[in-house]
Amino acid sequence: MSLMRLAYASEATFEAKPAEQGVEPHVARILMTSRRNNGKCNLVGGLYYGDNRFFQYLEGEERDVRETFERIQGDSRHRNITTLIEEQLDKRTFSNWSMKYVPLSTDVRRFLSGHGLESFNPALFTSQQCEEMIELIRRSSGDQKLVNHDATPVKGKKAQAFSPGLRAGLLVAAACLLGALVYAGSLL
Ligand code: FAD
Repeated sequence: MSLMRLAYASEATFEAKPAEQGVEPHVARILMTSRRNNGKCNLVGGLYYGDNRFFQYLEGEERDVRETFERIQGDSRHRNITTLIEEQLDKRTFSNWSMKYVPLSTDVRRFLSGHGLESFNPALFTSQQCEEMIELIRRSSGDQKLVNHDATPVKGKKAQAFSPGLRAGLLVAAACLLGALVYAGSLL
């Protein structure tokens, strides 16, 4: 069995919907499917989405990478797919991520301005720039949550420690506890 790695660039065909919180909805669906499928065959890598373009890196068993890429190529949610890297690999270079998602983050913006690039157009990346992108994906190890498209906090909304559902549950539990205490107190 042989390992390989593959990177490509493409253009989204959908019109990006504003994502007040979380990831752009089309991208979120792609990520959910990717994580489910890639995890099963130990395929790792990362997906960048920004300026309505994708950059994706895949690494794993050659058969799995090729099968997955064939499905990806047939997907109508993007077009103009340009293969940037397609080669054998001696050993894996990623740890256990099924598919990292990295929005057009501060790191990438710094990378773009460092190279004098005004927008995210990975189809035009040199091989050195591709390697830098892959390194950014590799280093962004921390957060597997589906984060905001531009990672900017939404104005006027404070960060919430608990989801609304959990908050409601905690309130009900606290009310029950209080009621039980009052009842127990009345029995004494
Ligand atoms: P399904 O169960 O067939 O579909 C999963 C969900 O996606 C369903 O809700 C379905 O309605 C929706 N969906 C599927 N195709 C489309 C479509 N053309 N338009 C709108 N909705 C659709 N797949 C991977 O397995 N691994 C990857 O790393 C990966 N990366 C991707 C990167 C990009 C940029 C894009 C556009 C797609 C990627 N995909 C990836 C998705 C891939 O193209 C296939 O849609 C997917 O692999 C099908 O797998 P499935 O049969 O298990 O999913």
